[in-house]
Amino acid sequence: RRRLEVAESSRAVLEDQVRTQDAYVRSANSQRAEADAALATKDREAANAMAAHSRNQRELEEVRMQMEKHAAAVVVSKTRGTKLMDRMKEISTERDKHLETLNETKRRLEKASRRLERQKEKTKDAEAKAQDKTEEEEDEMKELLEFEISDLQRKVNCPILKDKPKEVVLIRCGHTFSRACIDKRLADRMRRCPTCNKGFANDDVKPIYLTS
Ligand SMILES: [Zn+2]
Repeated sequence: RRRLEVAESSRAVLEDQVRTQDAYVRSANSQRAEADAALATKDREAANAMAAHSRNQRELEEVRMQMEKHAAAVVVSKTRGTKLMDRMKEISTERDKHLETLNETKRRLEKASRRLERQKEKTKDAEAKAQDKTEEEEDEMKELLEFEISDLQRKVNCPILKDKPKEVVLIRCGHTFSRACIDKRLADRMRRCPTCNKGFANDDVKPIYLTS
């Protein structure tokens, strides 16, 4: 009976211990489940963080690539710009050269034009001088001819009645006069030569014939 009581008591203690242990195990299980859940959450968070990081990396890479492309484009643009500037300088230089050539040609043309103008002026002067000389010569010739004509007229015409031709000669002195002149002297009985005053008779008056 005593043993039974002791056994009962032991069993009660044991059962109590088992219950305590069960409670402990349940608590531990619960804690473990909580820890597992927390771990899973942490894992998901880590995975999300990794994914976000990867995304960021990719985006960063993309941005970097774009920046490189942009930089390359800038280099190309710069090179193109430099080339364009060089070409523009070349064109400018060429244009300057062309302008210089054009100006030189213009200067030469102007010089040639001035020379031509001077030549024309000289030719005109020479022509005018030649014209003057010709006119001068013609005037001299005309004057000479007029003088010769008047001289010949004086020789051919009567020295007294100047508009009448010489028709008679006074043979004593050889002087010649118009018929009218001597007839008047004969009529007036002034029988002396009008030029040398030598006396002449009727028979001394002889006709002359100026023939050609
Ligand atoms: Zn006479």
